[in-house]
Amino acid sequence: MTRTILVVEDEPGIRMAVKDELEFEGFHVRFEEDGLAGLESIVRNPPDLVVLDLMLPGKNGFEICSEIRRRGISIPVIMLTARGQEVDKIRGLQLGADDYITKPFSLSELVARIRAVLRRCHPEENSDVIERGMIAMDVRKHQVLKSGQAVELTDKEFQILALLLKRSSEVITRDEFLKTIWGEDVYITHRTVDIHISALRRKIEDDPEHPALIVSVRNVGYKFNT
Ligand code: CA
Repeated sequence: MTRTILVVEDEPGIRMAVKDELEFEGFHVRFEEDGLAGLESIVRNPPDLVVLDLMLPGKNGFEICSEIRRRGISIPVIMLTARGQEVDKIRGLQLGADDYITKPFSLSELVARIRAVLRRCHPEENSDVIERGMIAMDVRKHQVLKSGQAVELTDKEFQILALLLKRSSEVITRDEFLKTIWGEDVYITHRTVDIHISALRRKIEDDPEHPALIVSVRNVGYKFNT
């Protein structure tokens, strides 16, 4: 299910970066640049979550937050505050923000917070599903679907695929696979990784001899192509 995130933020640089990242993560994103327009957008067409900058022209984040709560709108709010606004942070939570993030923040932190808040608000959808192209993985249910069809994987294959999907388009070295999946104190060679990758390819590739999903990066490792 595609969630709509409204970002109320007056700094164009942050808007652009957040837009790209959230869209990449599969969210639908709306923007407002000032407080009054932000409030109006929330009231008129409530999104699934609001990322609300504290210092805004028109109306500030506190005013918007208290106003939407006063109107009985209970959608989650993540407040963006500048470094050192500790007092503001507490005030934000008292006024009904669900979480806060201090600027400057990393995009991955923002995404993690958004997902955490949405999970808290929608416990009925408590799954961790990663979707990349035709592959969908439900981490909690330990389930993998390829084009909607279940694929049976061993535990190690599942962990390898999870690592590849979570960091898709990044090259993961054999050493990283060994360290993450087998642990550092176990003596296993790179060959073990290759064998498991081959087995995984036979299960998820259309043509395992010419893999299109899990591709080898010569002398380095493997990456997942989306
Ligand atoms: Ca601002």
